[in-house]
Amino acid sequence: MNTYDLIIVGAGPGGSVAAKIAAEKGLKTVFFERGRKPGEKNSSGCGLGPRMFRDFPEMMKKLTPEKCHSMRAGVAARNYFVNKDDIVAGYIMARPTESVSYEPAKSWITMNVYRSEFDPWIAEFATDAGAELKTSTLIIDLLKENGKVSGVIDDKGEKYKAPIVIGADGAVSTVAQKSGLRSKWSQNQVTLTLQYDFQAPSEKIDDIMGDETLAVWWGSNFPASYQVFFNDGFHQGLGNWMTWWDKTPLFYLNRVVNLKYYQRLLKILDAKPRELQAHLLPWLDYPYNTYTDGIILIGDAGGFPCPLEAEGIYPAMVTGKIAAEVAAEAVSSGDFSKESLKKFDEGWKKTSIGEEFEAGAELWNIWKALPFSPKETMSWFVPMIMEILGGIFDWSQPHGKRVRQIISHVKSYMPKATPFIMKNVFPLVAKIFEDDLDKIMDPKKIMKVLPKLLDMLPQKKKRRGSQEK
Ligand SMILES: Cc1cc2nc3c(=O)[nH]c(=O)nc-3n(C[C@H](O)[C@H](O)[C@H](O)COP(=O)(O)OP(=O)(O)OC[C@H]3O[C@@H](n4cnc5c(N)ncnc54)[C@H](O)[C@@H]3O)c2cc1C
Repeated sequence: MNTYDLIIVGAGPGGSVAAKIAAEKGLKTVFFERGRKPGEKNSSGCGLGPRMFRDFPEMMKKLTPEKCHSMRAGVAARNYFVNKDDIVAGYIMARPTESVSYEPAKSWITMNVYRSEFDPWIAEFATDAGAELKTSTLIIDLLKENGKVSGVIDDKGEKYKAPIVIGADGAVSTVAQKSGLRSKWSQNQVTLTLQYDFQAPSEKIDDIMGDETLAVWWGSNFPASYQVFFNDGFHQGLGNWMTWWDKTPLFYLNRVVNLKYYQRLLKILDAKPRELQAHLLPWLDYPYNTYTDGIILIGDAGGFPCPLEAEGIYPAMVTGKIAAEVAAEAVSSGDFSKESLKKFDEGWKKTSIGEEFEAGAELWNIWKALPFSPKETMSWFVPMIMEILGGIFDWSQPHGKRVRQIISHVKSYMPKATPFIMKNVFPLVAKIFEDDLDKIMDPKKIMKVLPKLLDMLPQKKKRRGSQEK
């Protein structure tokens, strides 16, 4: 029998950080990976958020192009707006703005790296700290003694014992299901995400994209599709909640890739498809049931990806760290009860992740209702935003007349936009500013200023050149 202080199932970013911290705290730790190496599947997310570099500086400063050749900073993001005729009606480019408060977030939006390189790199911190990594090992069940969790069993029947198990086994978590913490995700808790991996010469990406190496394609005919550039290629991906699909995800992904504009981009980048990947991604408005007697769920297994845009690597690392700290305390006290492991729940709620989930429902609602409801919402949102952004460049009429045309056209979208704003935007604003809404929108101040502003408005329009009376 193999006996440990702590068992971790999964060697993704969450499992590896948990294993590193636990080993550093002196726990005899093992972590299992079903692949031949961590990151073998090379699927799923590759954009590392800057909070990882802020909160795990000792580790992240060691991430270099020598270690991970695919590394490329996503400095600026293009937002393409695609109308119902599949035409790119316009795009906005954005880079980190002046309000961003720390490095490296001031320099880039994401650091892009293939998981086939990142996952083995991060797992090495755990093995260097003394944790044992068992690859090609699929954990299929939990062991129980006297009704209590006492370890895990693999698909070859090998048993491993420990009084506490961390489920870091991703979206389809065996630990979550076998522990009874939850059954399968319901269809509106999980998204299916498909992505093409294209190969393209680095020099072409440098020359053509410059540092605009992230993109979101906002479509009237497909759910929002992201583009992430690496050193020698890029991902084009798209997903939606399981409840949404009326055709296959590939149908919608091909709709993006077959856009004339996109085909032109592929041609000039000399890009060739390398792989087609599919992955499940839990996307919840709030994580629930993440711990019980002898069990803690972290990362995707616990439903921790960001409720707005599903950034999941940073939450997996943060929850991995907290779970390992709580496990170390449990080992030293000998108390593995649900009551003792509650500290995990209390712990993540105090972090940046907890702060994010405070507005989880509101963020999740607006995101689901906007880019992921293309036919209902984006079909009016894209022409409306392009009317505002693109309309002002039009010389078809005197500018004053154009402004009146634009305003009157934008007003025609109000029957659709107003209920959307009331249902999704107002609750989010109210949630974000719930503590100081009155300071920002003090009704007394507004009432004082408003009449003065009204007095300043011209009472009667005078035409230039008309005779003064
Ligand atoms: C297409 C896509 C794009 C994304 N883009 C981003 C992004 O740009 N940035 C970002 O931050 N997040 C992104 N995410 C989310 C991110 O990938 C995940 O949230 C993150 O990988 C979660 O880390 P984890 O350690 O919890 O789980 P995982 O990374 O899923 O790791 C779980 C590991 O456990 C192993 N495993 C599973 N079951 C078993 C078992 N029974 N026995 C042994 N081993 C097992 C798996 O092989 C895997 O290696 C994206 C997700 C998808 C699907």
